[in-house]
Amino acid sequence: MSKVVAFIGLGNMGLPMASNLIRAGYTVRGYDLSAEHVAAFRQAGGTASVSVVDAAQGAAILVTMLPAGRHVHAVVTEALDHVAPGSLLIDSSTIDVATARAVSGLAAAKGHAMLDAPVSGGSGGATAGTLTFMVGGSAADFERAQPVLHSMGRTIVHAGAAGAGQAAKLCNNLLLAITMVGVGEAFALADKLGLPAQALFDISSTSSGQCWALTGYCPVPGPVPGSPANRNYQAGFATDLMLKDVTLATEAAAATGAASLLGPAARDAFAALSKQGMGGRDFSIVAQALLQGLIGR
Ligand code: NAD
Repeated sequence: MSKVVAFIGLGNMGLPMASNLIRAGYTVRGYDLSAEHVAAFRQAGGTASVSVVDAAQGAAILVTMLPAGRHVHAVVTEALDHVAPGSLLIDSSTIDVATARAVSGLAAAKGHAMLDAPVSGGSGGATAGTLTFMVGGSAADFERAQPVLHSMGRTIVHAGAAGAGQAAKLCNNLLLAITMVGVGEAFALADKLGLPAQALFDISSTSSGQCWALTGYCPVPGPVPGSPANRNYQAGFATDLMLKDVTLATEAAAATGAASLLGPAARDAFAALSKQGMGGRDFSIVAQALLQGLIGR
């Protein structure tokens, strides 16, 4: 496969991902609406483009890392007639499943392959090249994408047909949102009952309440030294991004008629934090807000 990649969306995630492709030997043409982001990409050794079409022209691979479904739909539609015949399109943004399936269909109609390949690992993982990719698309296209995905990530999982990567991302983050609110609620009750946070952690982390939100990312300071709670909830994963993901999950539940009980409650909790100015803080601050009675009373 030709080594020319068009990369659209050079923000917090896209810039380090594109930089890793450059390091892996790809010729990367980048475009972003922000001139500042394009300049940073040029600094990283990329070829700056002046439009989506300019970047896409004759490229064998197109990667998109954009805010939401509408941006992905617009960019892919614009690029389809300009990439090389039989190109591989990879969307790594977190978007709704319906748009992921729709753009995959548009690409197929023009003879291109498309994968939805959202990521987990944050900007730290993007910089280190250790992202996890959850991939939706055919098995053959998944195989074809291995070299380019391995240049940006460490764990590459085939989730199923088109849209399955986004489905996996939304289901996982729905579960994380709910468990983090649950862990926060347990610490808030422990506090009112006079049980020290460390005692609850020591017991629950080895009991039936055990989960990653508690043991891997403990939302109160102390028990897990590396968690954002110990650095004043400076974002590892921002509340506004969690709000976006859990909103997409609850919308998908509503659209498909899936049972939905705790998802809307978790979404409302993160929406309240965002409204109170905490959207840029780490999402585990939900526990602190519950402890202080800022939400949930
Ligand atoms: P970001 O806002 O930093 O970057 C998005 C970039 O897209 C911006 O630079 C913006 O200017 C550009 N853009 C928007 N519309 C465009 C267009 N039409 N043409 C060209 N450029 C356009 O966001 P991010 O943090 O890099 O996240 C990107 C995606 O990855 C989102 O879908 C997000 O949910 C997902 N994600 C983010 C993280 C994270 O920790 N930041 C983790 C996992 C997944």
